[in-house]
Amino acid sequence: MTKYWKHHIRKALKKSMISQYIHTSGHEHGTKDFLTVWDGWNGIYNLWTFVLLSAGLYYLYQHAVDHEHNINRQYNHSNLKYQGRNYHLITDLRLGSNRYFPFSDASPYLVPDELDGLEHTLKEMLGDFVFADEYTSCAACGEIIRTSPDSYGWRPDCVFIDDDGYIHADCLTEDDLQDWMDEHKGHTIPYAINQKFSGYTTIEIPKEHRKHSYDQVFEYESGFHHGQDDDPKKMTTYLSDHGIDVWFEYTAGQFDIVWRPMVRQADHDKAQQLLIGFDPY
Ligand SMILES: [Zn+2]
Repeated sequence: MTKYWKHHIRKALKKSMISQYIHTSGHEHGTKDFLTVWDGWNGIYNLWTFVLLSAGLYYLYQHAVDHEHNINRQYNHSNLKYQGRNYHLITDLRLGSNRYFPFSDASPYLVPDELDGLEHTLKEMLGDFVFADEYTSCAACGEIIRTSPDSYGWRPDCVFIDDDGYIHADCLTEDDLQDWMDEHKGHTIPYAINQKFSGYTTIEIPKEHRKHSYDQVFEYESGFHHGQDDDPKKMTTYLSDHGIDVWFEYTAGQFDIVWRPMVRQADHDKAQQLLIGFDPY
């Protein structure tokens, strides 16, 4: 059965109206899950529709396409042309079954084995489906990386390097790091880079010079609470007037950002002296 589905899925993938929507397929950095990155849902709808028609399973096609929740029924432009005829696209393979509508009055309609087989084979050949506005491939190794948040507190494992594109933390070279630092003076340092540093150091103000006696580690804060008015731009200007480049490590909270200045190792002592008594607000 799997072989049978593979044949029809391969046929579908050769069709330009489907393959043009596929950005890439491959393993995800880190998890190693196999993923296919689509430009949008339309390619997936075309794939499902084509495979059912190509396999001659018109009754399954009809079940899905007749369903009131098949959102493409009313749009003529979203048809698929197959052997000279236009077909509405299927927007959910299981429409027509009531497996996902247990409270409906419709009589029970079990998901046919054919659909289970098709879904299984799609997963085997193409992995999980994800979208190009949330994933891209690593410019260094081609593996797939997430570029947009999926949860609170998510931080990207990659950085965007001009002229190259997104590169995963594991694939960054010393040259990439140097390029990024040179082009982003005064910026906050991405999480992906932060773990790979050598040659740079954060500045801590000696305890006796700290703004507040209760500060355990000297940090600056920008946020919505009273007194969180430190401005990193003022520090950037101040240090660069003295010939020192600065970047910022940060931790983001819900209503504030806590940040620490980072400079080249060689500039550390001079920068530390300059920052004693300096208030960036
Ligand atoms: Zn990579």
